[in-house]
Amino acid sequence: MKLGIVGLPNVGKSTLFNSLTKAGAESANYPFCTIDPNVGVVTVPDKRLDVLGEMYHTKKIVPAAIEFVDIAGLVKGASKGEGLGNQFLANIREVDAIVHVVRCFEDSNIVHVDGNIDPLRDIETINLELIFSDIEILERRISKAAKLCRNDKKAAKELEFLNRVKAHLEESKLAKSFSTDDEEEQEWLDSYNLLTIKPVIFAANVAEDDLADDGADNAGVAKVRAYAAQENCEVFVVCAQIEQEIAELDDDEKKMFLEDLGLEESGLEKLIKASYHILGLISYLTAGEPEVRAWTIKRGTKAPQAAGKIHTDFERGFIRAEIVSYDDLMACGTHAAAKEKGLVRLEGKEYVVQDGDIILFRFNV
Ligand code: GDP
Repeated sequence: MKLGIVGLPNVGKSTLFNSLTKAGAESANYPFCTIDPNVGVVTVPDKRLDVLGEMYHTKKIVPAAIEFVDIAGLVKGASKGEGLGNQFLANIREVDAIVHVVRCFEDSNIVHVDGNIDPLRDIETINLELIFSDIEILERRISKAAKLCRNDKKAAKELEFLNRVKAHLEESKLAKSFSTDDEEEQEWLDSYNLLTIKPVIFAANVAEDDLADDGADNAGVAKVRAYAAQENCEVFVVCAQIEQEIAELDDDEKKMFLEDLGLEESGLEKLIKASYHILGLISYLTAGEPEVRAWTIKRGTKAPQAAGKIHTDFERGFIRAEIVSYDDLMACGTHAAAKEKGLVRLEGKEYVVQDGDIILFRFNV
């Protein structure tokens, strides 16, 4: 699972990416400093793992992870091949969701490519490039369908549909806000691999002062929120600079620093969790002395396919799953006590795995 960090130059993408991965991606005060996409693997914070680790005297804890890609700065005209445009768009096509960083902080030392701070204009600049690129895709499909439609009813229906989606995009709207009740149309829409259909989280990058009240006093943030609501996107208020400072601290220092700010967890931790959520991902857990581990699955995954994440043999030879929920285990104190109370269930092939299920798979080899 991969998330792409996008945004105009100098909005704080690299700063955010660096603090996410603690990797050494360059951050400098000029456009185009991030030329190649940088990929970082980020672990998903999950306090349940530490608790289980203590309970089982575990030697090793393996959290879930997602990938973030810092995608090179975009300028106006990218869809026409300006700047690093084409490469940028190709990189976005490969990600599962987008974190769109928007500059909501003032700092006269840091140049804005368009001269002043205007989050909504910035969002529109980027979205327009994505929309242009999507329209090109639709146009190619339209000319294909137009050739077929004389003898092919389905192609005729798709042609009419393609034109409707195109008209929607031409109003500067995203494909994700296009809605249809028709199952076939929805399948078509999902199959075009459009850029503007991907889930989006706006990371509103604010000054430190705006952090405590979650950007409530920042007019730019308010505009981003209104836009996001209209386009089915999420908003996340963050201060990239502070996150970078936090990322450099050790665990104890970090805890004190956050307490001083009156925060329970860092903005990044929240962002990572929100990203996991927006991707429709959940974690089931395995726990024992050798290892406590979180396994990533899509919400709605059934037990055999969940087992397949560990090993394909587990899926092929799946017999049943022995499951206790994390909350039930905590309420009982030990696995044996949970079993006594009948809270350790045996589930079969049709069971839909839930977030926080602690599972032992039974399988034939
Ligand atoms: P990118 O081009 O979007 O990757 O932007 P960078 O992450 O390289 O940031 C551009 C400049 O803005 C750097 O000098 C950063 O230190 C600075 N910067 C990033 N985030 C913040 C922030 O939250 N507040 C302030 N004041 N400066 C920031």
